Amino acid sequence: MKAAVVAGAKNIEVQEINKPVSDGKNVIVKSQTVGICGGDIHVWELGDTPTYKGTIMGHEHAGVVVDPGARTDLKAGDRVTTIPVSVGCGMCTACLEHRYDECTNRITGMGLSAAGLPGSYAEYFSADPQLVRKIPDTMTNEEAAMIEPCATPYSVVKDMGIKRGDKVLVFGGGIIGSFSAQWSKYFGADYVAMVEVNEYRGKKNLDEGNIDELFDGKDPDLLKKLLKASGGKGFDYVLECTGHAEPLNMAMMASKMYARIAIIGVAVKPIPFNNIVALFKRARLQAYLGYTNAEFDEVMKLVAEKKFDVSRHYSGGCTLETLNEAFEELHSPTSHKVKMMIQFPRD
Ligand SMILES: [Zn+2]
Ligand SMILES: [Zn+2]
Repeated sequence: MKAAVVAGAKNIEVQEINKPVSDGKNVIVKSQTVGICGGDIHVWELGDTPTYKGTIMGHEHAGVVVDPGARTDLKAGDRVTTIPVSVGCGMCTACLEHRYDECTNRITGMGLSAAGLPGSYAEYFSADPQLVRKIPDTMTNEEAAMIEPCATPYSVVKDMGIKRGDKVLVFGGGIIGSFSAQWSKYFGADYVAMVEVNEYRGKKNLDEGNIDELFDGKDPDLLKKLLKASGGKGFDYVLECTGHAEPLNMAMMASKMYARIAIIGVAVKPIPFNNIVALFKRARLQAYLGYTNAEFDEVMKLVAEKKFDVSRHYSGGCTLETLNEAFEELHSPTSHKVKMMIQFPRD
C-alpha cells in the first residue's frame, strides 16, 4: 500500500509499504479522510531528527472497516473514526480523580513519532478495538476527522470551568484557538476576545461568531486595549494557543490577579518566560495536551446532534502526493487555510 513517510526536514515521501495485517484483535481501516494536525507540521519541520524521521503521521481520521477484528458489532464497510491520542479513559477511578498518569486503560498514540504506532497517512491503518468509534449517519467524514482536534479545546474549557459571566481571551485563531473560543461561547462566556496576527484567520472567527472582538497581535498598543476590553482588571481566563513566547507573556500581562491561564500551544523549542509577571499575578497556569476517551465521545455526540458545528473549519483537501504543498500552505503565516485533509480516492 501507499503511505506518506517523513523522509527529512519538510519532506514527506510517498512510499510502498506492507499493509497492516489482521490479527483477530485490531480493526483494519481503509483511510478515506485524514486531517493534517498543527502538531504534524512540527513533525514535518523536524523530519531529519531521529524521533521523527520515518514517521507515518495521521491521527484525525475517517475511514471504512476492512476487518472488524475483535469488534463483533462492526462489519466491513462501516464508517469509523478512532481515538488516536488520549490522556486516559476518563472512566476509571484514577481518571475520575484527574490522575490520568495512573489510568489503567491508557494506550500509546498513533502517528506521532517514528517509534510510535503508524498513523493514517496511508491507504490502510490498524486501530485498537477499544478506541474505534462508528461514525453516525448524520455525520460527514470531515466532521468525524475534526472530532480529535476539537476534543482538546473541549477538555481545556470544561476543565477550566469557563461559564456564564466570564471574560475570556484567546491567543491564536488556528484550529485550536478557534475551537477554544467556540467552546468558551458554548459554555456561556459573556465576552470572548481573540488576538491574532493573521488578519484572515482573525476575521473568519469574528464573522463566524466564535468571538466578540478581535485584536491585532502586531498592534503596539495591544496590552492597553486588552486591559480596557477586560474592564480594566484583566481577563478571568486566558488560553494561549500559539506556542510562541510573546503571546504567552502577553497572556500573563492581560490576565487579572489569580487568573487561570491555559497553555495549549505547542513550542518545539524552549521559549522565554517572564516569570515576575506570573509571580505578581499569582497566575494559575496549567498546560494541556489531549483529552480523555470519555471527552472524545462527548464531543462526538454533540457534533452528531448538531449542537456544535465543526464543519466551518474545513478548508479543503489534498492527496498523499500533494502533502508537502499542503504543509507549506498551512505553515505559511498568511495562509487562509485552517484545516486541510487528505481525501483518499474512493472505489
Ligand atoms: Zn491532532
Ligand atoms: Zn482511566
